[in-house]
Formats: sequence, C-alpha cells, structure tokens
Amino acid sequence: MCAIVGVYGAEKASTVAYYSLFAMQHRGQEGTGISVANGKSISVYKKLGMVADVFSQDTLNHLEGTCAVGHNRYSTAGKDSKGDVQPVFAKYKLGEISIVHNGNLVNKMEVRNKLIDRGAIFQTDMDTENIIHLIAKSEKDSLVDRIKDMLTKIEGAFCLAIQSRKKMFVIRDRFGIRPLSLGKFKTGGYMVASETCAFDLAGAEFVRDVKPGEMLIFEEGKEPQSEMVYKNVDFHPCAFEYIYFARPDSDIDGKNVYETRLETGRKLAQETPAEVDLVLPVPDSGVAAAKGFADELGVPFEMGIVRNHYVGRTFIEPTQEVRDLKVKMKLSPIKHMIEGKRVAIIDDSLVRGTTSKQIVRMLLDAGAKEVHMRIAAPEIKYPCRYGIDTPTKDELISANNTVEEIRKKIGAASLGFLSIEGLKESLGKERNYSMVSFDGHYFAGGNADSPSCGDS
Ligand code: 5GP
Ligand code: MG
Repeated sequence: MCAIVGVYGAEKASTVAYYSLFAMQHRGQEGTGISVANGKSISVYKKLGMVADVFSQDTLNHLEGTCAVGHNRYSTAGKDSKGDVQPVFAKYKLGEISIVHNGNLVNKMEVRNKLIDRGAIFQTDMDTENIIHLIAKSEKDSLVDRIKDMLTKIEGAFCLAIQSRKKMFVIRDRFGIRPLSLGKFKTGGYMVASETCAFDLAGAEFVRDVKPGEMLIFEEGKEPQSEMVYKNVDFHPCAFEYIYFARPDSDIDGKNVYETRLETGRKLAQETPAEVDLVLPVPDSGVAAAKGFADELGVPFEMGIVRNHYVGRTFIEPTQEVRDLKVKMKLSPIKHMIEGKRVAIIDDSLVRGTTSKQIVRMLLDAGAKEVHMRIAAPEIKYPCRYGIDTPTKDELISANNTVEEIRKKIGAASLGFLSIEGLKESLGKERNYSMVSFDGHYFAGGNADSPSCGDS
C-alpha cells in the first residue's frame, strides 16, 4: 500500500506533489506529507489525515522548491502510528535527506536490531527509518554510493524516492512488486508516482514504468540517468494491485487496471457461472469485475447497491463491531430492483468475510429470492508481507474455512472464487505475478507463516 510521488525540475513542485497525492488518496488515508528541496535546504510538512485536509494553499506556498517528494500512508488496522507519517527527514554527514517509501522490508527487524546494537536510536516503527540510518552510517563518500550500499542491506518490496538538497534518487526493488511510473511535464521536469492516475491530474505525460532493479538519478540540467542497481532482477509485480488496490484508470506495467478486472469477471463467469436474473457489483471495488461477469453470462448488470461516498473504506476501522456498522453506513440496496430476483453479487476479494456477510443479508432483507456470491480473486489463504493488509492467518476467513463453510457463514445460495489459474490467465502469462496471498509463495525472504513485519 501507500503512495509515493517524486517531482523534479518543476516550478511549483509541492503543488504538483499535492495533486498527485490527491489522485492517489485511495492508496492510504491515514497520513500524508510532502518535503521540498530548493537547492539549499529541505522543508517537510506532514500530518495525520487526508490530503485535502492536511494541506492548505498557504502550506503549499511555504513549501518552495523545484523538487518534492510526497507520501500517503496506509496503516495496518489498530496500530497507533502518530509518528509514522512520511517523508522521513534527517540531517547527516553529507547534508540533508528526505525519503518516501512504498512497500515492506521483510528483514526490517534484523536490520533494526543490528543498528540498535551499534548504538542507533529510532523515533518511529517505520522500516523507512532503517533506510535513512543505513545511508547515514555508510562509509562511502557520495550519496549515490551510500544509497547503493544501503540497497545491499535491505530486502523486500520497496519503491523509494530519496531527495537531497539538489538531487533526487528513485529506486524500484529488483522484484518490481510495487508499481512505479515515470512521467514528464511539457514545461520540462519529471515526476514519478506509484500510479499513472497521478500524472493525469498533475499534468504530466506518461513516459514509462520504472524497471525492477532500476535507479533513476535526477540532477539539475541533465536528463534522468538510469542505472540498473541489481544484477539479479526477478520481476514479480503484485497481482493484488490489479485486483483491488490500484485505481481502475491507472496502467501498471503496461496493463490497464480496469481492463484486467473486466477480464477477471469474465473468467469468473466461465469458471463458476450462476443462474440469475441480475448481476450487481459491491461498489466500488467490484464494479469492473461484475461488468465482465454480466457480459460473459449475458445477464443485465445494475448498480443495485448504492454507496454513500462520505464514509471511508471500511477496512480502516480497527475493531470488528465498528467494521460491521460501517458496512451498513456505506452500502444500501435499491429494493424494488432486487425484490423477487435471483441476483449474483460480485466483489473483488474476500478477506475477513465481513462485507460479504452483511451484503448477502442486506440483499435478502431487500427481497432477493436467491443471492449468489462471486469473488473475482482466488481465496486469500496467506498473509502478505510485501505490503497488502492481510496481517494474520487467523483473520483470513479462507485460511480457516472451506468454500462451503464460508458459504454457510455468509448465508449465500452459492459461493464461487476465481481460480489461481484463472487469475493468471486474466493477468496474462508473460509475467510471474506475486500472488502471495493466494499461493503463499514468497520469493524475497521469509515464508508464509512468519508474521507480517513491515508497515509502509
Ligand atoms: P472482508 O469484508 O471480506 O473482510 O473484505 C473484503 C472487502 O475488503 C472487499 O470489498 C475488498 O474490496 C476490500 N479489501 C480487500 N483488501 C483490502 C485491503 O488491503 N485494504 C482495504 N482497505 N480493503 C481491502
Ligand atoms: Mg470493497
């Protein structure tokens, strides 16, 4: 999760970063921050809250400079993390530095404990602080060499934008797990962002995706320099970005998110069709897949459940009781459309089962004759340590129940999931996607049963 943005050589870099973070608000609502460099110093502004609430015109005017890095934070439920807002800023031997990070370092505690043994002190729980310490403690002379040195010591999923007073360094890990794209402004200057939807609002043109294992160096008066900083690139983009996390108008690694979701819906209909009169999505996350499902079956698609847009994502609340109530606060059915009908209801994923259970009950209360639940993703059986919020196995309904047991729990007439094979076909087989949540296959450190340890 989380969103990062980096802007270089743009007149009002902080404003560009602001719009980019606004476009990527879906990737994290807990806290946000921007830091700018003007060649002489770096200033940071960060706070808990949503982008539009945290920044005012006045704040942005005070963040003067042509280079900005910014971040939206998504936190793991229930965690008190007031201090964990990014960018992370520090003064060190070579001057000033500010870092934003999207992803999870899987060797966070190992690295942190080693640093602590050598006398380092930490102010937050963020794995991002490891990165800043490793750079500060490196014995190399230049910042770029210190960054490379740091990269040999961290492992996991990360996209980084690192700002010094004059330069910006952007890195995507060798697995390319989290997305990152490069854009260019007509007026000169560049930006990188977790999702391409940021370019549209910020007024940048898409150039290309940052490659797995690549570092881009931005320096005044030069085109961005590219350097492959890993020999052993092993591309595994995250399947969950396409399923749930990214915005449908974004293209990730050359593939449009909406199109991919449509395809998962079509595949789902081929694998587990349903005899129904109507196909409804769980808004908003199930919309594209439901459209694909309905198209494939030739059954009408209707937006039969209305979403109240003034309620945040339900996942964010820490306790189960509040989560239950929030589903009702957020979604409500159009009764006359549903009464007496056999309906299929499509969601993008099933995590704890809270949403599905409530929705099935809601549709039955609204008079549906039968409710058939379909999920446009495979069963989530494993926690993901690369930054998807599925923290422990006990909370994952599919890790502990068969499909039939879940069907009973949520009260549906039938329940179907997309197969892992079906998901692979929907995404295209030219790449090996990271599907940890579904197959438990870790390729960067650790195994599926070890606890989630990162938080960025
Ligand atoms: P459940 O109700 O089964 O616990 O969660 C399923 C719902 O949560 C789905 O509607 C899906 O869109 C959403 N969801 C799945 N993964 C995530 C996540 O990592 N973060 C958030 N905020 N929502 C998620
Ligand atoms: Mg949802």
